[in-house]
Amino acid sequence: MTQVHCKDCTHYRSAPWQAKFEGCYHKEHLSQKQKVDYLDEQQLPGDHRLINRLHDCSEHEARQQEEPLWKRLMRA
Ligand code: SF4
Repeated sequence: MTQVHCKDCTHYRSAPWQAKFEGCYHKEHLSQKQKVDYLDEQQLPGDHRLINRLHDCSEHEARQQEEPLWKRLMRA
């Protein structure tokens, strides 16, 4: 069985650049939800260390590798 790590998951956001609080922002794991999307900043994340303590989270989605800067510049 493969192990998954939150830092490689699209649902993980870290403070202070990606979110106010570090944690899991998967909609099923939020500790405080908002009904409407524009209140996204008021949502509180779930504790990713607790949810994924066995490294077997079923909601894990791998992040896309960011394209290198030179490739992005060549496309422009
Ligand atoms: S707990 Fe699961 S869904 Fe949340 S960030 Fe970690 S791997 Fe992703």
